[in-house]
Amino acid sequence: MTKGERYKGVLDYFIAQVPIAETELHYTNPFELLVAVILSAQCTDKRVNMVTPALFQAFPTAEALAASNSDTVFSYIRSISYPNNKAKHLVSMAQLLLSEFNSLVPSAVDDLVKLPGVGRKTANVIASVIYNQPTMAVDTHVFRVSNRIGLTTNAKNPLQSEKQLIAHIPEDLVPRAHHWLILHGRYTCLARTPKCEACALTAWCKYFQKQNKSQINYPLKTNTMAKKKQNVKAKAPKKVKAKKAASPSKPKAAAKKSTKATPKKAVKKAVKKVVKKVAVKAKPKKVVKKAVAKKPVAKKVAPKKLVAKKVAVKKVPTKKAIVPAKKVAPKAVAAKAVTPKAKVNKPEVAKPAAPKFVAHTTGLNVGDLAPAFKGMDQNGNVVDSAALAGKTIILYFYPKDDTPGCTATACSLRDEYQHLSDSNYAVVGVSGDDEKSHKKFAEKYSLPFPLIADTNHEVMKAYDVWGQKMFMGRVFDGVIRTTFVIGADGHIKQVIKNVDTANHAQQVVSLG
Ligand code: SF4
Repeated sequence: MTKGERYKGVLDYFIAQVPIAETELHYTNPFELLVAVILSAQCTDKRVNMVTPALFQAFPTAEALAASNSDTVFSYIRSISYPNNKAKHLVSMAQLLLSEFNSLVPSAVDDLVKLPGVGRKTANVIASVIYNQPTMAVDTHVFRVSNRIGLTTNAKNPLQSEKQLIAHIPEDLVPRAHHWLILHGRYTCLARTPKCEACALTAWCKYFQKQNKSQINYPLKTNTMAKKKQNVKAKAPKKVKAKKAASPSKPKAAAKKSTKATPKKAVKKAVKKVVKKVAVKAKPKKVVKKAVAKKPVAKKVAPKKLVAKKVAVKKVPTKKAIVPAKKVAPKAVAAKAVTPKAKVNKPEVAKPAAPKFVAHTTGLNVGDLAPAFKGMDQNGNVVDSAALAGKTIILYFYPKDDTPGCTATACSLRDEYQHLSDSNYAVVGVSGDDEKSHKKFAEKYSLPFPLIADTNHEVMKAYDVWGQKMFMGRVFDGVIRTTFVIGADGHIKQVIKNVDTANHAQQVVSLG
């Protein structure tokens, strides 16, 4: 995968799934955002949002803040990290705003960094959020996520990361890309344990592929050719897996038995035996060929080293399993018994009784009379439900042209279009993209059916598929992916809310 493809995949995904990405800091004007961003250094946005209402009320303007002093400001921000320094910075910053910039927050990064408490990251945030400039603020999340996915290569500091990201991300997307990466790092690609199993970027993520946790098929592999390839691929891994699965299970079993008798020596011997067996098995040509993909250097590695590594790994869990139980448990108990914090924390844990967010779903049901619809398609033709009377209409709503899931859905329907057409089906896609975008999308994938450019969401609203949804902890309005199958009599025959994007045509037909 080229870097360009990686960037495209990631950006397309975010464009479709997180069309609105904004800072989580609360503010109503540039001055307030500047204050909030200064306070947010080494501190959470949530904490900052707790103190800023009172702070902004006391100091609504640069003049008011400049006329104050750090001790007074400190009393408002004492719960923030580094309150002493930040209080001094805020007052000095306000004074410089007054004297140098006529109380206005400057737009140029070079001017912004002159303000006390404003570093390059803060300046980039202000320039991007307030003035919509293509500046990329690289904080710890952006730095980590970009590096893991492979958007940056060998970036050793935020500046290097910033330069690489700016070089690849289209200017108009840079302000949003900053928030996408932050939000992804904050809620999914966590620093210690990234939630790869819940992440939709695995297909483009270098880190994930290195970890070799699983193989994700790019959604476009939905046509017949792709399926054939998948079938061929699917056969090979089974044998490899079977052999690989056999090898690790043996050392485990051997290690378990031996640890009961003589822990260290027995484990070493057991593992040595298994490794020898594996090495012997690895010699035949067939096995070597299959293993080449993942362990091309297997022959060169000396068996002894392998043994050492494997034994070392085994040692750790056995020691931990036996020893730490005694050491850790008393500490935890003691801490809870002595420190009052533990007692205070308990009731806080019970607090998350907040209601779970439920994404919007259409209120239309099977048997309802389907609302009439009309709209312009990619060729400038009017698509009118009245003109399709007598046909079974597959009316499918999707978020965004040329994004993985939406492309898979469209290609699935395209591949079965002849069959659907012969069976008296009409296929109509609907999204909020304009005609130009639809045209490009339809031409790129040779889509034979119309795509309605529902830019004002009229058709979506008629079918009640425009509403709130959540992604990465953020709630926003968007189209809810839904397909309606409308019978020749004009009534709804099917409502498909859990769209199988890669096999959607088959899903529609099998449900029908
Ligand atoms: S796959 Fe894992 S490492 Fe990669 S971006 Fe997603 S959460 Fe992060």
